[in-house]
Amino acid sequence: MTNFFNDNDDLRFHFDRGIDWEPLVTAVEAGFKMPDGPANWKDAVETYRQVLELVGDFSAEEVAPKAAAIEKEGVRLENGEVRLGPTQEAIFGKLKDLGLFGVNVPREMGGLNGPTLMYFLTAEVMGRADASVMVHFAFHAGIAAILLDLSLREGSTTFNDKGQVVSTRWQAAVDDIVAGRAWGCMDLTESNAGSDLAALRAKAVKGADGVWRINGSKVFITSGHAQYHLVLAKTADRATLDALSLFLVPARIERDGQTIRNVKVDRLEEKMGQHGSVTAQLSFDDAEGELVGKEGEGFRLMLYLMNNARIGVGFESLGAMEAAYRMAVAFAAERKSMGKPIAQHELIAGYLDEMDVTIRGLRALAIDGAYAEDMATRLEVLWAMPGANPTEEDRKKQARFKRRARMLTPLIKYAAAEAVVWLTRTNMQIHGGYGYTVEYGAERLLRDALVMPIYEGTSQVQALMALKDHLQDVMKDPQRFLRKLADAKVRAVRARDDLDRALNNMRFESCLAQQHIVLQLAKGKWTQAVSGGVSSLFQEFKHWDPRKDFSYGLLHAEHLVRILTDVVVAEILVDQAKRFPERRELAERWVEYAAPRVRYNHDLITRTGNRLLASLAQSQKA
Ligand SMILES: Cc1cc2nc3c(=O)[nH]c(=O)nc-3n(C[C@H](O)[C@H](O)[C@H](O)COP(=O)(O)OP(=O)(O)OC[C@H]3O[C@@H](n4cnc5c(N)ncnc54)[C@H](O)[C@@H]3O)c2cc1C
Repeated sequence: MTNFFNDNDDLRFHFDRGIDWEPLVTAVEAGFKMPDGPANWKDAVETYRQVLELVGDFSAEEVAPKAAAIEKEGVRLENGEVRLGPTQEAIFGKLKDLGLFGVNVPREMGGLNGPTLMYFLTAEVMGRADASVMVHFAFHAGIAAILLDLSLREGSTTFNDKGQVVSTRWQAAVDDIVAGRAWGCMDLTESNAGSDLAALRAKAVKGADGVWRINGSKVFITSGHAQYHLVLAKTADRATLDALSLFLVPARIERDGQTIRNVKVDRLEEKMGQHGSVTAQLSFDDAEGELVGKEGEGFRLMLYLMNNARIGVGFESLGAMEAAYRMAVAFAAERKSMGKPIAQHELIAGYLDEMDVTIRGLRALAIDGAYAEDMATRLEVLWAMPGANPTEEDRKKQARFKRRARMLTPLIKYAAAEAVVWLTRTNMQIHGGYGYTVEYGAERLLRDALVMPIYEGTSQVQALMALKDHLQDVMKDPQRFLRKLADAKVRAVRARDDLDRALNNMRFESCLAQQHIVLQLAKGKWTQAVSGGVSSLFQEFKHWDPRKDFSYGLLHAEHLVRILTDVVVAEILVDQAKRFPERRELAERWVEYAAPRVRYNHDLITRTGNRLLASLAQSQKA
């Protein structure tokens, strides 16, 4: 029997040896005080393994063989009600029986109390079987955990001295979701506002009766036939992000003893892929909702939710990459051309090698980022419990995890979502003419993958976020940055080990590229300043306007995010190679591919852009 967890040596390396489970499990289990919890971290990890094996078995045996049927049956809207196809209905029925809708929800609330990282690993395993099933699955446990976190953040969750949840604001919703009776969704996008959330129009007004009512419509909402909608709406008449607030809006409510629709599904989008996933257009007509947190906090809370969702898309992409790679390997071994299997032809062998290295490198990145995010959040939860007394050192450690998660999240989303498109397309190409037919399913993997760089924040938005964070760091402490640059150069020159030398050369080129962007920005600012005369010079340097002062950086954001990803993955793999010698070959293979890419993107940053920016500035003046 195939098992999508057990047959994956790289995933098992991380699970068995790579992940430092002890601190994470200790935080998740609140120091092992809970009466119904595991005795120690090793016991807990054994339970996680059993869950992953169960999901691995279920994905391989019950989902993957039915992916074509799921696509064919699709989803439909009948009299305002959404219907999944019978194959998916049966799959979700079995998932409910297996009790897998609460992987990362506390035990006392019916869940398995696994870390969020565990939940991400199940998402990769399931994503290898079918993207639509994985996505809908994620809107169960994912939303239950979000509701719990939101309640914790606003202070409406209480714990006992054993670290168990005693009460939480959305207990009923979490119960419904964990029991498999319901799921949730995130309603941000509108027809005129996707990346630019400040342009949202949906409006929430508090009535004299104290009830919030929401009016407006949302588009492209995944699993939008949910009972629990997290809705972003305006509570002030400004086109700014601090005008947005977050609401929990149930799709059906009870009124005068009757169940009525509070959120309407108007239509389902017809898409090129993920046909088994519901993507809905919704309308809110005086829909009643509960304010989450405070007025004006909506964007901040949504960003927090989206961090997890972005890491989730990273794991979803990894699952699809694994499926495409394995399909390509199997086909290339069978298919003969010019006297030998195509896998033996150098070009195809080269594709397969790069696919394999890409998946392993990006998995290491995704697990590192997910671990940092989980640790940062779990420590916060731990400190919300009675009797918690974190030391200064604990707080510093938590802040380091938080910074690392913030740095890695856009890289994970960007790199994995871009890679899955390249990888599924390469798989299709390896299949030749058969790749263009539906027979093998290679084209389905590509169609399913194409949305990954679009949803949960486009690739461009991820690149802009990474750019902003990096440049802010450089500008905040230029001396530190210059020391980093010099340090990389010295280490590259002094390194005795080829791998260390290559890594430090990549770091050095990354610093040079960042330095070039900063110098170009300063040059642009200087030109503006002197053109206004000496009197305006100091004023100009006091105020930076992202829309005009950061043009050079904005233009090269994607080139920079590619460099940053290549370097950070190399750092993670080189570090692993030092601790686990059997990982050295992987680190070397990553660096072989990544070093020339870094040089190429460095050259694009340092040699292109001024001509285009000049003409753009000209056209904006005209
Ligand atoms: C299948 C599917 C499922 C989805 N699920 C959900 C969901 O569950 N909930 C939800 O709220 N939304 C969902 N979305 C919506 C999705 O998040 C948006 O489509 C996405 O954020 C992009 O917004 P947009 O379509 O309005 O494109 P736009 O924001 O108009 O962007 C168009 C293009 O311009 C680029 N761009 C925009 N601004 C800039 C800039 N400043 N600099 C550089 N480039 C820029 C974008 O990257 C993109 O390439 C889903 C979409 C799809 C297709």
